[in-house]
Amino acid sequence: MSVPEPAGGEEAKQAKEAEDAEKFSFMATVTKAPKKQIQFADDMQEFTKFPTKTGRRSLSRSISQSSTDSYSSAASYTDSSDDEVSPREKQQTNSKGSSNFCVKNIKQAEFGRREIEIAEQDMSALISLRKRAQGEKPLAGAKIVGCTHITAQTAVLIETLCALGAQCRWSACNIYSTQNEVAAALAEAGVAVFAWKGESEDDFWWCIDRCVNVDGWQANMILDDGGDLTHWVYKKYPNIFKKIRGIVEESVTGVHRLYQLSKAGKLCVPAMNVNDSVTKQKFDNLYCCRESILDGLKRTTDVMFGGKQVAVCGYGEVGKGCCAALKALGAIVYVTEIDPICALQACMDGFRVVKLSEVIRQVDVVITCTGNKNVVTREHLDRMKNSCIVCNMGHSNTEIDVTSLRTPELTWERVRSQVDHVIWPDGKRVVLLAEGRLLNLSCSTVPTFVLSITATTQALALIELYNAPEGRYKQDVYLLPKKMGSRFSSPFWGTGLHRVQSASTASQALLLLLCDESPSLSCSQMSTLPACTCLPSTPT
Ligand code: NAD
Repeated sequence: MSVPEPAGGEEAKQAKEAEDAEKFSFMATVTKAPKKQIQFADDMQEFTKFPTKTGRRSLSRSISQSSTDSYSSAASYTDSSDDEVSPREKQQTNSKGSSNFCVKNIKQAEFGRREIEIAEQDMSALISLRKRAQGEKPLAGAKIVGCTHITAQTAVLIETLCALGAQCRWSACNIYSTQNEVAAALAEAGVAVFAWKGESEDDFWWCIDRCVNVDGWQANMILDDGGDLTHWVYKKYPNIFKKIRGIVEESVTGVHRLYQLSKAGKLCVPAMNVNDSVTKQKFDNLYCCRESILDGLKRTTDVMFGGKQVAVCGYGEVGKGCCAALKALGAIVYVTEIDPICALQACMDGFRVVKLSEVIRQVDVVITCTGNKNVVTREHLDRMKNSCIVCNMGHSNTEIDVTSLRTPELTWERVRSQVDHVIWPDGKRVVLLAEGRLLNLSCSTVPTFVLSITATTQALALIELYNAPEGRYKQDVYLLPKKMGSRFSSPFWGTGLHRVQSASTASQALLLLLCDESPSLSCSQMSTLPACTCLPSTPT
């Protein structure tokens, strides 16, 4: 058993904290924002009336980092390049004559409806919640403004919220991930949706603004993924917070921003941290990555895993998922770690724990899963063998030092979408996937079942915050699982466990856990449960 010294563990953690503090600084001025982020357009009082083609073409360098740490299924039948006219320049109406939306092409609605129906098949917990609470309408009177990926799965969530009584206005949290046909289907169904695949930065903020800044309609709930919507409301329309009952936030970055606001005493409404809920952590990080690592690598490289030597950096939830999948397909997996306990777990699970520098010359694939920065350095990249594949499954885009590869002596060759060959002067090629951004966000789909868990958690958080009696929640960040945990505590825990044991499928078990079928607990009774946990201002 070889457990390495925690190489620079504390230092690495401090570096990450420092970088995060800078990156997520909620009140950061535009000039301080990292260049690649969509900048908070604090000074952008007016939007470009007619976005230019140049604006649209420059997207690949301007993805919002805050919107890349959650993900979507992101598969779309449509392509933004099929029509060069910006949706903002089009006059479109749905079949009922409403033009209260802005999507790529409303004519794709039927196609999108089929996508949504397919997604519904594997979102049983959400559908169950919809059916059970439809009569009670626990969200009657809720006016939810949302900013999430717009995909078939989120459409199921949005339509569930509507079925539970809410009015929704929605924009996309990511400029690339909108499924245009799904956005069209939502618009056709009467949802005020403002999103399309391939938005420019200007479009991105314009869409958010169209959801928030509406005559005669004021949001009283926020569902955010990445914190951009929350930020926009804080900056532009702080008065709206007088009516807001709560914020539900999905992503790592958005939650981090909320904690920063809370620490600075500037959070003026209760917020629910969905990201750290037990169900999301386990399913998203472990099980989802276990599947999407293979999907992403196959789609981009057609690699055969059997017999390949793979280095996985980090043996947390994501790393465990990746290692398990690769091992199952016959790959020889090495693990690097800075935490002795995780390193020990890797050993106990049958993996060789090494320092990356020890194996860098021999491995065929390097995968980062640490949440840290510069885990793969230029020195590592220089020493890799020809055709080594390098990709990131961890933090948005900090784990591989891609910037160090943008130097004159190295040639970049785009060989496929999201696949670059970086060529050294001696002819050696390193295969870089998704330019070091999240492989599965960029190159694979995410199972509907996983997204269903997050969506159900989001819906429950919204119901809880909206229905909570005055004073239950203060202006702080809360964690949902405690409440769900209380459902599992006596007598719910025993019942829940028994039901999982007796469930015939994983889908059924999930439904039973997330959305307890107990006749003694209906949605309207959720407010009688103990309050959610308030986390300390600094996340652990
Ligand atoms: P985790 O904290 O459970 O695991 C991270 C592990 O990496 C820890 O064990 C840590 O000790 C180790 N580590 C940190 N720095 C290291 C270094 N320099 N070298 C080797 N090991 C190092 O976190 P997690 O839940 O596994 O998530 C990891 C990252 O993946 C986070 O940034 C998270 O946001 C992201 N994430 C990605 C996806 C996805 O779909 N790709 C899904 C969920 C989370």
